[in-house]
Amino acid sequence: MKRFALAGNPNCGKTTLFNSLTGSTAHVGNWPGVTVEKKDGIYKKGSEPVAIIDLPGIYSLSPYTPEEVISRNYILEEKPDCIINVVDASNLERNLYLTTQLLEIDVPIVVALNMMDIVKKNGDSINVDKLSKAIGVPVVSISAQKDDNLDLLMEIAIKESVKKREAFTILQDKSLSHLISDCKAAFTGLDIPHPLFHAIKLIEMDELEVKDHPNLAKVVVEFKKTFNDDTFGSDLEAIIADHRYQYITEKYSVCKTHKVNNVYDYLSSSDKIDKVLTNKWAGIPIFLLILFLIFHLTFSENLFFLGGLIKFNAPSFEGSFFEGLFYTENGINSIGVILFNFLDCITSGITNLVGSWLSTSPDWVSGLICDGVLGGLFAVLSFLPQILLLFLFFSILEDTGYMARVAFILDRIFRKFGLTGRAFLPMIMGFGCSVPAMINTRTLADDKERTATIRVIPFFSCGAKLPILTAIAGGICQIFGFNNADFITYSMYVMGMLTAVVAILIMRKTTMRGEVSPFIMELPTYHMPKFKALMIHLWDKVKHFIKKAFTIILASTIAIWFLSHFSWNWQFLADEEIEKSILAGLGQLITPLFTPLGFGWQLERQFSFVFVVAAITGLIAKENVIATFGALAACIVGSTIDTSTDGADIVATVEMIRGTGITWPALIAFILFNMTTIPCFAAVATAKAELPNKKFGSTILFWLATSYFVSMMVYLVLSWWWSSFIFLAFFIILGFSIHYFNRYKDRKATLV
Ligand code: GDP
Ligand code: MG
Repeated sequence: MKRFALAGNPNCGKTTLFNSLTGSTAHVGNWPGVTVEKKDGIYKKGSEPVAIIDLPGIYSLSPYTPEEVISRNYILEEKPDCIINVVDASNLERNLYLTTQLLEIDVPIVVALNMMDIVKKNGDSINVDKLSKAIGVPVVSISAQKDDNLDLLMEIAIKESVKKREAFTILQDKSLSHLISDCKAAFTGLDIPHPLFHAIKLIEMDELEVKDHPNLAKVVVEFKKTFNDDTFGSDLEAIIADHRYQYITEKYSVCKTHKVNNVYDYLSSSDKIDKVLTNKWAGIPIFLLILFLIFHLTFSENLFFLGGLIKFNAPSFEGSFFEGLFYTENGINSIGVILFNFLDCITSGITNLVGSWLSTSPDWVSGLICDGVLGGLFAVLSFLPQILLLFLFFSILEDTGYMARVAFILDRIFRKFGLTGRAFLPMIMGFGCSVPAMINTRTLADDKERTATIRVIPFFSCGAKLPILTAIAGGICQIFGFNNADFITYSMYVMGMLTAVVAILIMRKTTMRGEVSPFIMELPTYHMPKFKALMIHLWDKVKHFIKKAFTIILASTIAIWFLSHFSWNWQFLADEEIEKSILAGLGQLITPLFTPLGFGWQLERQFSFVFVVAAITGLIAKENVIATFGALAACIVGSTIDTSTDGADIVATVEMIRGTGITWPALIAFILFNMTTIPCFAAVATAKAELPNKKFGSTILFWLATSYFVSMMVYLVLSWWWSSFIFLAFFIILGFSIHYFNRYKDRKATLV
């Protein structure tokens, strides 16, 4: 089968094109550096099936970061049959810079002029035939987002792929030409493919090239001594780059006509928005406000705080069908809570139905199915609507281009803590799932920065941790009489981010010391998010979630049910005898360790182990924490569950909390512990693969220590306010010691 590679600048629409051609659902986002791995799929609509390879974006063929190397190596070494060079037509000149380099490789090329819808909307136009003649390869104008002209593009690419294309360079300057042809001859003599490309990269003194051909590099160095350009001296790389841009302006730019003034109108509206959103002072408060609004719309049971204004307990409201679903006496429910309630009606219905079917079967069968399997699964499933909603909001922020702005606003602060703003983008991906987020850190050039970022990504609470937050926040509200579950959830997210910031600060001042690399990222233009793309995104998430629910989570809840219903000598136990179970025995062994965190010894002795056991099952998949509660609730509260009320899943957690006698500060500590401790199995495996320089063992230790310390601190401070002084003193002393130790070390280093 033929293979066509998609190459182009970051954010020019390669992945969108890839998804359209192959029917895949790869992640598309409006910021540079979304794709960090090559992906392949198959295009089936043409005369023959063709494999399409989506590559990470590159500005040039001289790579700086690990993901850029992937693209260069693929193009040079895997010999695709054709390169489809995706070009953002609304940004023509800059995008064609890469094109001039691709032309230097002996491979068929087709230029896909993408985002033509934007060009047209701006009232500009591009003469495609003229451009095609100027570049010397076919040019097809397309819109990947609107599926325009994609089949034509493929048809032309298939035709081109059977031809042989000679490499060609636009670098025509006399003295350079001689050097280029000399070097090219040398590479041809060595029988190296793409001699012209290698010759020019060597002349640019490209790092990879110099390393591979040290002898030839010496020749170039000799030549450089004889070379002297008026502006750039003997900096050949700069001279070549300058030639390329001059050529583009002269020969290619003339193919584009601008509608008079329009460009400036367009720019200014985007600039106006940016003036507010990226304002030095307002930027961060706006970001925090947007975050809070998102959490409010997803979790609040008192939307826009209308509860105090409208009397929802008036007789006209009471007892209506909508009560509970859309509003309670506290106020109106947010979209997230309405969806949650709705799904909950369905799942409790199913549980009751199955329960009545099984009423005549043996105890252990109905127990395993109703409490073990359904209790566990539904406890997790009921949070799916809120996970999706949160995910949808984040996707919208990402797709419009706002998240890239946030990275810029945060750069100023991040820099003080030893990171670039670029690191914020994988972190925000962490809100969805740590696995792709950790992979995305490949866009960070510096190894120490990368390690530090991978370590804190789990602190950005992922979708699977959300049930823990929501269920426990709901429980706290019901039992201890707080009113704003959304506020608790929001604070937990913020607390996770704060932990990340402090952890990074400490790491970058101690074990991961180093300069912060400069932050250069192009700001993407604002886009209207595409409905279909958002839905594909969400559907992907649903599939992933369902698959996980019926594999890992199902298996874990069944295992938990067995361990909690059998004693050490394999005797079946009734629900009330749970403290004799294997699970209780194992759990009680380590429970004392968690006494400083509030969920250890101080709990009711026979149930004290449930929190620890739940946290441990969470290491397999974080949804297990709540699934475990669901599966154990029946044993712990037994017949005291009042099934007449709606929301049996929340009830499970609530009754469990009551049964164990845990305090609310300890519950907060429990949430934080789960949020910051070792992440799930999949994330741990990813961290192991992505962490540079064997930092894996220390990273596991780091997660354990951080989660223990943070939850202990929060538990103690919330329980006894004066203990905050102890921690304050601790941090001050820590700060001073690090500062003076580093100063001492630096002085010693300068003396030597
Ligand atoms: P990549 O980094 O090259 O893979 O680019 P993506 O495929 O992730 O797309 C970047 C952004 O451009 C996303 O917000 C897309 O929705 C948007 N986009 C892609 N193609 C088009 C297009 O043809 N027209 C418009 N208006 N937007 C597009
Ligand atoms: Mg991409």
